[in-house]
Amino acid sequence: MSTHRLQDALDALKSTRVRMTPQRHAILEFLFESMIHPTADDIYKALEGRFPNMSVATVYNNLRVFKEAGIVKELTYGDSSSRFDSITSDHYHVICSDCGKIVDFHYPGLDEVETLAEHVTGFRVHNHRMEIYGYCPSCQKKLEH
Ligand SMILES: [Zn+2]
Ligand SMILES: [Zn+2]
Repeated sequence: MSTHRLQDALDALKSTRVRMTPQRHAILEFLFESMIHPTADDIYKALEGRFPNMSVATVYNNLRVFKEAGIVKELTYGDSSSRFDSITSDHYHVICSDCGKIVDFHYPGLDEVETLAEHVTGFRVHNHRMEIYGYCPSCQKKLEH
């Protein structure tokens, strides 16, 4: 399934003017296979052995290119630790308060919350983000010991 999505993303990139390089291919492949919502630093660490000339800044710049092409989503947390998501359709995230792991969670979009927010505030709402916090199964095990 993830290789199918990777192929779709590669096709989508081909239709833009983004040039495919071995580095870009490797970054995309990691993003689509890992499903961990990695930071630029996570990707850098995973690939630095294969691309000794690559820097974290290169990884980040490539992620920006993918984001502009609409094939990845950036989850910002107010500092430099943006996480990148290869699933660009709407979904929610469950986040571990201990290890920071982010897991996808599919639930019907809460459109009525957006409608209500528009009514109450007069904003023109275009998006919302909901995050659920707790302890992941492996951290629960650690806490029991
Ligand atoms: Zn955890
Ligand atoms: Zn996600």
